[in-house]
Amino acid sequence: MGLVLKLESLRAGYILRSLDRNRVIPAVNEVSLEIRDDEIYGIAGESGSGKSTLLKTMFATAIEPPLRIFGGKIYYYVQNKEIDVLTLSVQEKMRLSWQYVSYIPQGSMSVFNPIRKVRTVFLDFLKSHVKEGEEKLLAVATRHVKALGLAPEVLDAYPHQLSGGMKQRLAIALATLLNPRVILADEPTTALDVVAQKAVIQLLREIQRESKNTIVLVTHDMGVHANIATRVAIMYAGKIVEEGSTTAILKRPLHPYTKYLIDSLPRIGDKHVRESVPGNPPSFLDLPSGCAFHPRCPYVQEICKREVPQLVNVNAEHKIACWLERR
Ligand code: SF4
Repeated sequence: MGLVLKLESLRAGYILRSLDRNRVIPAVNEVSLEIRDDEIYGIAGESGSGKSTLLKTMFATAIEPPLRIFGGKIYYYVQNKEIDVLTLSVQEKMRLSWQYVSYIPQGSMSVFNPIRKVRTVFLDFLKSHVKEGEEKLLAVATRHVKALGLAPEVLDAYPHQLSGGMKQRLAIALATLLNPRVILADEPTTALDVVAQKAVIQLLREIQRESKNTIVLVTHDMGVHANIATRVAIMYAGKIVEEGSTTAILKRPLHPYTKYLIDSLPRIGDKHVRESVPGNPPSFLDLPSGCAFHPRCPYVQEICKREVPQLVNVNAEHKIACWLERR
């Protein structure tokens, strides 16, 4: 299976001006990962773990202040050619955005202007990428919406006439109109009821199955990853602390933090009180030394407080960053 996207030792974050001085928020810290063709790659972790910032760095045109790249590399693989994204001009990035890689931001259902019909939003989007008459473009939008199992009449609606779940599905339809190779989706099921969540998961799964493209899915909800992801990366304090096939992560989580995330998943018939991760995630402005999870970890050793564990292979398909695995 070929690569579609690769990050090498990526460091990214924000520079915020406060009280007359600049504060650096290092939300992504030395992240390396390889995303493959034809897979759903999940990124999990608590709020504030850096997963949404990481996802944003993968969308070329979203890399603009306040988001900054402090170091490392981002590569796309377009028609078997490796492209160093950080060397591209704005025009080159714009050419690749939406056609090679598309982005469904958090709260994307609000992309629809309340005073404009959904069809106008679809047409404006198409007009900015395809040189065709309005009639042909409307036919493209209608065909796409229908292919995703949505009633074409929704294009004639105003956003307030649609449910949150329907708007989210339309936001996904909009982001996939140009059949991108990679779809980046940030918390697409958050703020939806369970029925709407199921419909969104189903839609993403069908798009991927049909087009054989790649979806990178960020959500704090391990249940969604369990349902849809091929592989999962667990993020903590801006770093990937575990990565593996979804089956391996769910059946045999190795990192103490991953174990807490899996243990907190509800199970049918199991009435035990779920144990959540003790304590709170650290601030990016004051990260603990060594392993950033050490103040919350029940297995902490002296070395954990001093030295950062690197992400290493446990086997070909499973990686972990924890001193427990090195003993
Ligand atoms: Fe816990 Fe140490 Fe592993 Fe960090 S490196 S998760 S503190 S055992």
